[in-house]
Parts: sequence; C-alpha cells; structure tokens
Amino acid sequence: MRDENMAATALEPRDMEWLDKGVLGIQWSDGHKGVYPVRYLRQHCPCAACVDEWTGERRLKAEDVPVLIMLQDIESVGRYAFQFKWSDGHDTGIYSYSLLRRLCQCDVCQPVKPVEPKSRRLM
Ligand SMILES: [Zn+2]
Ligand SMILES: [Zn+2]
Repeated sequence: MRDENMAATALEPRDMEWLDKGVLGIQWSDGHKGVYPVRYLRQHCPCAACVDEWTGERRLKAEDVPVLIMLQDIESVGRYAFQFKWSDGHDTGIYSYSLLRRLCQCDVCQPVKPVEPKSRRLM
C-alpha cells in the first residue's frame, strides 16, 4: 500500500485552466482538481474591505457581487497565494493556497450544493 501522508508537504497549484465560462480549474500538487466559479471566489474575498478583520464578519454581501463578474488578472504572491483582479475594480484580496483549497466547489468537496442562506431578518 502506498503511504498517503503526502498532504503535509506544501500545497501548490500545478496548473490552471478555464473549465467553463466563469469557472476556473486549478490542478493542485496533491492531484486534486479544484473547481472555482469566479463569482464564488469574489464573494469570498478575504481582504479587509470584504471581511471585518476583528470579528471575521463578512461585510461583502453575496448579492453585492455583479452576476457577470469576471476575473481579469491573476498574480502570484510569493509562493503561497494568488491575487485576483476583478472586473468590478477590486484587487485587494490575497487568496492563500489553503484558503483556495477550502473554497473548492468540486463534487468531492461539495457533494451537495449548499442553498445560500437568506439572511433576512423578520421584523
Ligand atoms: Zn475584498
Ligand atoms: Zn475539491
């Protein structure tokens, strides 16, 4: 049997391709094929403008992101993250590789598509 404890080594993206219109695919060094709808990535931007640094509360509402958001540019940050440039002018989010792995929307990571909770308060 093969030793499967390879995950401890640094996770790195090996390849990147468009799987579909607006769906980014990232091939990881551990063999996992990540699936990332770009609007989902934008909605989960980890920068200080989108997430409160102190409380961790998300300031950016999912519906605030344009439906036709586009990824205009991808820059590597060191050897641990990507910086995405969005068509709405936003570019301050640094997406670490480990964050990206958590955001993966492939069938294995997300067997059941979560229904977006309606955070509507009853007055
Ligand atoms: Zn942001
Ligand atoms: Zn996955």
